[in-house]
Formats: sequence, C-alpha cells, structure tokens
Amino acid sequence: MSDELIKEKEESKPSISFVEQFIVEDLKAGKNNGKITTRFPPEPNGYLHIGHAKAICLDFGMAKKHGGKCNLRFDDTNPIKEDVEYVDSIKEDIHWLGFDWEVREYYASDYFGKLYDFAVSLIKRGLAYVDDQPADLISSQKGTPSQPGVESPYRNRDVKENIDLFERMNKGEFEEGSCVLRAKVDITSPNMHMRDPIIYRIIKTPHHRTGSKWMVYPMYDFAHGQSDYFEGVTHSLCTLEFEVHRPLYDWFIDQLKTTEYRPRQIEFNRLNLTYTMMSKRKLLELVKEGKVRGWDDPRMPTLCGLRRRGYTPEAIKRFVDLIGYTKVEAINDVSLLEHAIREDLNMRTTRVFGVLNPLKIIIKNYPEGKVENVELINNPEDESMGKRMVPFSREVFIEQDDFMEVPPHKFFRLAPGMEVRLKGAYIIKCEGFKKNDKTGIIEEVYCTYDPATKSGESTSEKKVKGTLHWVSAQHAIDAEVRLYDRLFNHEDPAGQKDDDYRKFLNPDSLKVLTECKVEPSLESAKPLEKFQFQRLGYFCVDYDSTGSKLVFNRTVQLKDTWAKINK
Ligand code: ATP
Ligand code: MG
Repeated sequence: MSDELIKEKEESKPSISFVEQFIVEDLKAGKNNGKITTRFPPEPNGYLHIGHAKAICLDFGMAKKHGGKCNLRFDDTNPIKEDVEYVDSIKEDIHWLGFDWEVREYYASDYFGKLYDFAVSLIKRGLAYVDDQPADLISSQKGTPSQPGVESPYRNRDVKENIDLFERMNKGEFEEGSCVLRAKVDITSPNMHMRDPIIYRIIKTPHHRTGSKWMVYPMYDFAHGQSDYFEGVTHSLCTLEFEVHRPLYDWFIDQLKTTEYRPRQIEFNRLNLTYTMMSKRKLLELVKEGKVRGWDDPRMPTLCGLRRRGYTPEAIKRFVDLIGYTKVEAINDVSLLEHAIREDLNMRTTRVFGVLNPLKIIIKNYPEGKVENVELINNPEDESMGKRMVPFSREVFIEQDDFMEVPPHKFFRLAPGMEVRLKGAYIIKCEGFKKNDKTGIIEEVYCTYDPATKSGESTSEKKVKGTLHWVSAQHAIDAEVRLYDRLFNHEDPAGQKDDDYRKFLNPDSLKVLTECKVEPSLESAKPLEKFQFQRLGYFCVDYDSTGSKLVFNRTVQLKDTWAKINK
C-alpha cells in the first residue's frame, strides 16, 4: 500500500465519525444530564481479536474523550461455551491496548436475579409464556421475512400455569430443550426478531460464576439491552448486525423503564480483514484442530497473536483510526495494518544485524585473533537512540543469497572478483570459495579486505554498490527465526459458499529457520522486544527463547529492502 493511498484515506475521512456526531449532539442537548457512559460487552467464549479492538477503541475512546466512563461487561449468558480463561485473557488484552475500566467490571450474570424477576413480571402482565414445542418447530412457525409467523398453541396459556412452569424450569424439573420462555410480542411483525422471541432456555451446565444456582439462562437478546439499562449506559455502541435487534431491545426497555432514560444504540460497521477471519467459533476450531499453535499463534488475528507477532497497541489503534467507523460493511486490506506497524516500528526499533541463512566468509588478510569494535547507529530516524559497538573479526557470516557463484547482470552483492561493503566495517573482495562437490552447496567464501576503507574513517576513493549485513562468527548468538506468511491464501476464507475455510489454509504460512545468527548485542533481549534486522524486516523476541537460543518472530518485512540500506 503506497503512502499516497494512505494520505488519500486520511484526507477523505471526516474529522469525527458519525457515531461521535450523535454523541456530541446528545451531550449538547443535555441528554442524560450531559453525561456519557458506554460499555464494552465481550462474551467470554474466546480470545479478543482485532475486530474487538475496533469496538474497544470506540467504546473506551468516546467515553474518555467526552469525560465519561466505559464499563467492561462480560456477556456471560451461555455457560456451555464460556470460561474464566477467556475472562482473564480479555482483561489482559484491553489493558494492553491501553484502556481501563477502573472498578467497573460487570457481568451479565450479576443481573440474573433482576432479569429473572423481569421475566416473571412479563409473564404476570401476559407478555411472556412457556412454550413446550421443540426449537426447530418454534423456528419454522416463525415463518420467513415475507411470510408472517404462526401462533404457538401455548401462546395463550394462563398466567398461573406459566409462572408455575417457569419456576419448575428453573428448579431443573424439565429436560434441556423441552420448553422455553418466549416474549409475547408480535408473531406477524415484519421484523423476525419481534416474532415472540425465546427469552429463556434451560441449561444444566454449571456457570463459571454462578455455579448451579440457575437452570434457566436468559438469551443474549434478553440480557443485553436490559444490562445496558441497569448500568445506566447512555450510548450502546455495537456492530451493524444488531440494527434489526434494536426494536426488540426497545420493546423490552419499554416494559421495564420507569423514567425517561433509555440507552441509545448506535450501530457501526465491523472490522473485517483480508486473508483472515474474525469468527471466534472458527478461530477456536483452528486452535482445537491444531491448525495453529494456539490462540496466540502469531498468525492469528487475535490480540495476543498480534502481540506475540510484534504488533504494538499504537499500530493497532492507528489502523483502527485509518479505517474509521461507517455504516457500510467492508473488508479491510491487511496491507494497511502492515503499513501501520511498519510506520510505528520504524520509529521505535534499533537496527541490528541478523543472518537468517548463514554463509561463512573468511577474510584472509585480516589478522587472526584480532577483534575490532565498529560503531553503528541504532536508528537513523531517531538520533536520541544513540549508537552501539559491534565486534568485527576475521570470520563473519553473511546471507547465503548475498553470494552467487555465477551472478546475473546487475547483481551488486558478492561474487567471485566482486567487491561489497560490510555495513559499518570494510569493503571486501571475493577471491574464491569452497564448494561441496556432492551437494553443490557453497560452504565458505574467501575474501580480502581493504584496511583503508573502514566506515567513517575511510581514506580510500573506492565506491561499491552493494552493502551487506553480517555477524562476526565467533561472537554470533544462535537464533531460531519464524517467518510468517498469510494464514489463508484466499482474501475472504470464511465468506465462501461451502463454508469450509480450511480449504484455504496456506500450507506455507510458517517457515522455521533454526540455524540463524544474530549480533551479540541481542544477548539479553527479552520476549516481546522488537528490532529491525537490517534488510530483512521487523522481528520480535518470542516467549520460547531460552538461555542458549533466542527465538524471533518476523512481524513484517521491510517495504523495500534495497532502498533502505543503499541510501
Ligand atoms: P462472534 O464471533 O461469535 O460473532 P462477537 O465477535 O460478536 O462473537 P462478542 O464478544 O460478542 O463477540 O463481541 C464483543 C463486542 O465486540 C461486541 O460489541 C461486538 O459488536 C464487537 N465486535 C465483535 N467483532 C467485531 C468486529 N469484527 N468489528 C468490530 N466490532 C466487533
Ligand atoms: Mg457477539
């Protein structure tokens, strides 16, 4: 993605989003006493992904910008899929992004009592009934958007019987699936969600917070709007698919509310990213089926995966800001996210030498046993990051593909008779090489150096076109480097006809190099520290690093590997 495209994107964006415009209007009109309260409502049934980051930035961002508060509320209405592991990871990821809910950590399960009482009050008012039919029959009776629904034979059960049955549902007297509680709204409504939606079902799996206290659980649609209401949320920001649920949420609040206050729901477009997918269910399948190494596999679009890969919160927020919030569904180009991380890492990382596929160079006229420390700039973009000393000696490693026995035209790297500069050190000339006759592999390359060409102190007129990165062989640290490519080789793997995204898994999405060499300044590098390996990209230290071997993940390649080093 070119800089012009980015610039165009920035210039075409409104200064504030339509969501913020609504919020500002409400604040100006003095609604809710001129206060804003939002919430981020994850279901703890998986790890957060970059789509959630878009919602988090808006929920927390709007509250912060306009002097309000944002609650964290776990929508934990389905004990079958939910787990504390997810609760903990969600909290960690939100903090990592740089947002905080202070003491306002809420759970829909905190409201199970209130929601149960509200359901009973609906029954008493003739606005809810127990339906004994199986789920598929209920669903088929609902009709289609163009065809009105049919009333359930249980729709007009009397109040007493309904109360009795609902209580017994909660005591565990009935099997799961044998009956449900439905709201009596409008079975012929053009909006399918209004056709007597199910509001409670029986689940006997214990809940991660309330244990076996409840045998009936509210449906998401019955819990969500009311939870907002109980918490005094003023602006309930959510994704577009909930637009059609809004009339139902409003209907519930109409039955519940005692004052003028009601949350205002505003829907915005989801974040979708090319070459990956956002469904938590499918991401969980990838994890369970071992298609990736876990939720935090650096190829995953999860926040923990991106973190491990080397992404920063700043880059993610910058990306979210670039794509903006609209009412139009779109699929965002992953190269824009890559642009954002490059831009950020360019400013903050130290440039170091790492050799992925080492080839040994022996500099024949360099004294054996001599070691010189050469000075290198840490980051040309930021002088304050200083300089460092890197040892140079008679034997160094360079990349295998920086040498060719028979080079093509315009190959400005090393080949017999050719000269290159070892960055920060000397100009060397290739005088010969050793090749394994059986395998054809080049095992060593023999060079001479010109002592008059030392970087920064050169007294020679000599100029060369190629500059290579290198690591002194005796000082090198062993490293494993994991190179990543897109997890899928289809732009929209989950959006295809037969719903089998597995067909599009990229078999080459991970390449592990175990014989890499990096400069000794990296010796004490800690997990999640980030570097630019010159000419190769940005790399992040992995948690798998041990005392004897560093492990790096490549975050992203440099845009233009040659332009950078030759300038
Ligand atoms: P599922 O993957 O099962 O559809 P979900 O992604 O909706 O679940 P939730 O935990 O319910 O998961 O999401 C929490 C909040 O994050 C919701 O308000 C939801 O609108 C928002 N959100 C989820 N996915 C995206 C996305 N891709 N882009 C923007 N917001 C999202
Ligand atoms: Mg959801």
